[in-house]
Amino acid sequence: EYPVFSRALMFGDKLAIVDNSRSHSYQDLYGSSRGLARRIKEALDCPSGDLQGKRISFLCANDASYTVAQWASWMCGGTAVPLYRKHPLSELEYIVSDSQSYLLVAGHPYVDTLEPLAHQLGLPCLHLPPTSDLCSLLEGPKTQPEPGITDWAQRPAMIIYTSGTTGRPKGVLHTHRNICAMVQGLVAEWGWARDDVILHTLPLHHVHGVVNKLLCPLWVGATTIMLPDFQPQQVWECLLSSKAPMVNVFMAVPTIYSKLIQYYEQNFTQTHVQDFVRAVCKDRIRLMVSGSAALPQPTLLRWEQITGHTLLERYGMTEIGMALSNPLKGPRIPGSVGVPLPGVEVRISMMNSTSTTIAEGNSRETKVRPGLEGKEGELLVRGNQVFKEYWNQPDATRDAFTEDGWFKTGDTAVYKDGVYWIMGRTSVDIIKSGGYKISALEVERHLLGHPDITDVAVIGAPDATWGQKVTAVVQLKRGQNMTLSELKTWAREHMASYTIPSGLVIVDEMPRNQMGKVNKKHLLKQFFPR
Ligand code: ATP
Ligand code: MG
Repeated sequence: EYPVFSRALMFGDKLAIVDNSRSHSYQDLYGSSRGLARRIKEALDCPSGDLQGKRISFLCANDASYTVAQWASWMCGGTAVPLYRKHPLSELEYIVSDSQSYLLVAGHPYVDTLEPLAHQLGLPCLHLPPTSDLCSLLEGPKTQPEPGITDWAQRPAMIIYTSGTTGRPKGVLHTHRNICAMVQGLVAEWGWARDDVILHTLPLHHVHGVVNKLLCPLWVGATTIMLPDFQPQQVWECLLSSKAPMVNVFMAVPTIYSKLIQYYEQNFTQTHVQDFVRAVCKDRIRLMVSGSAALPQPTLLRWEQITGHTLLERYGMTEIGMALSNPLKGPRIPGSVGVPLPGVEVRISMMNSTSTTIAEGNSRETKVRPGLEGKEGELLVRGNQVFKEYWNQPDATRDAFTEDGWFKTGDTAVYKDGVYWIMGRTSVDIIKSGGYKISALEVERHLLGHPDITDVAVIGAPDATWGQKVTAVVQLKRGQNMTLSELKTWAREHMASYTIPSGLVIVDEMPRNQMGKVNKKHLLKQFFPR
């Protein structure tokens, strides 16, 4: 249980990160981080060299400077708070103030964004050079371990803000122990190794982008290729490129896979190109993962046809890192999220009565209470990767745990056929209609089987008679149209009668955020204002 950066010393001049065609070795990242750490200590007038958990907010592009800012914050004993470049100024201000940051670090392109904010809040702001010049931060010996700090395990390492899907984003505080546990579970389960090369295209202010796609490879001495943004063409080029280092691991959210499929359908129309794509993906890539939102089955199936890879779907959240995963080897069941990762304990407890357990398990086995297999309940999680607290929100923290220390995810799940299935958020995805409890995610899974529907979000519209009405917000294939009665006719043949939508809203494009999530509270407000 030590900070991730200290492992860099084992990997020396091995290639850690490639960004904008520049290469950064482990020792260069380590040395640059030390240089920045010294400047941070100086700016905060901290001669002891231990910031004792003081927060440092940083805004960097998707490149090596992000890692340098994060490691530097850790080296001086501080807490890293990653900001997101696409957040509006008001959101940046909220996070910097809410986290009570002591100092800002601005990546090269964001000096103009952060300086006025720093000025307004009266905080020092350090500027990073462009990544081509990161080594200008280097000073002294490259490979000398940080002295002094020994209590890494309990030390706060990072505050990550939740996606804000159900309310104002909450700051989730993880200790170095939490982060080590997340990383070690994934490294073991997904077979991370030193010769892996991952392509990174996700934002760096969520667990998915920070832990799964960056800290895991850095932990094992692998290589991360960082793209500034997600562009389908560029991602395909990188996946298919035979220039070293060649990509063998890819992870993304479902919308990214569907955009890659769209690009493929429009541009890779010739058979020999399609054969090439399939051959390269099959031979070279060892793992492709999807998560952060439910993976639609049509996306999974089409991706399988195109690349020969069955996407590995997993389930996680900001507060717990990854908890459930389909296997690296062995059958991956579409629509399920597999079993607990090593080190994670999972429980499904009866709704509204967390003391009654339906199922409980770990990576090796799950025990189900007789007669309750397949029954829905709230998913609870326990283990070293579970966060320490919501930053500055003791009440929210208290409410989030059961008396015996399990974290309440707020998601509904079932255990069936030896694996776990996510039914959605208890607050918005479990629709209560005429005495039935209907999983929006299940209805969505069915509706995606309709040939004209390309995306769907199912919501419970308020209804005087039924309590809530199953309502489908759909995005249709270009040029298609649909009436409610047509949808109902189709649905009668494909789904249980009480789950058939009784409302239909057609949208030009589903409003999904960068992480592929739909904000259903927003949808409800937009289409059913009270
Ligand atoms: P907030 O907590 O601010 O409302 P959020 O919960 O969307 O936002 P995250 O922590 O990024 O923020 O997302 C975690 C949630 O994403 C989970 O609670 C779950 O509802 C959903 N999720 C993650 N992976 C999957 C998956 N494979 N299938 C279905 N849902 C998933
Ligand atoms: Mg949440």
